[in-house]
Amino acid sequence: MEIVFATSNQNKIREVQKMLPAELRILSLADIGCLVDIPETRPTIEGNALQKAEYVVDHFGKDCFSEDTGLEIKALEGRPGVYSARYAGPQRDPQQNIDKVLGELQNKTDRSARFKTVVALYLNGTMHTFEGIVEGTIRTSRSGTGGFGYDPIFQPNGYSITFAEMSDEEKNKISHRGIAIQKLLDFLRSISA
Ligand code: IMP
Repeated sequence: MEIVFATSNQNKIREVQKMLPAELRILSLADIGCLVDIPETRPTIEGNALQKAEYVVDHFGKDCFSEDTGLEIKALEGRPGVYSARYAGPQRDPQQNIDKVLGELQNKTDRSARFKTVVALYLNGTMHTFEGIVEGTIRTSRSGTGGFGYDPIFQPNGYSITFAEMSDEEKNKISHRGIAIQKLLDFLRSISA
């Protein structure tokens, strides 16, 4: 089976590739000739995931899946949330985003947070969504060089290391994206059984 993964984020492609069975071939946006930055303008994580999948369906008529992720920090009333990528400005700089979060949490005692991913799948004329959530805390400083985005400051509950100190395989087993993609794979297996 071939399906488009509607993202241009190479880190997401790398992580997701490691979870997929050999019989599921992923086409990139470049593979289908989609070279634009797909708009993400909706006010929710789910809305943005759907928007990216709908774009591929409307412009290319292909079955596809997309995902959108946000970091929700309790003491910041759920921010950066849907604005996680542009939290410190339109330049989408992960280091500046981390600095902004660490600055805002400086005097906060509650550092609990969660990553939330919504995967949207468009298949045979129907849209489906799958959610993945991982709870954790925000460290007071960075640790680790793996992963991407906010990984160096996110420590999942039950672990003493950050996502950036894990291999992709370890992170995939417990992460927001790993959980949502596993639900997607279970669904695809259930309909092809
Ligand atoms: P988007 O889903 O591509 O819009 O990403 C939202 C923001 O969250 C970006 O700044 C990403 O770098 C960050 N992000 C997405 N997934 C992860 C993750 O698995 N770990 C850490 N940061 C992430």
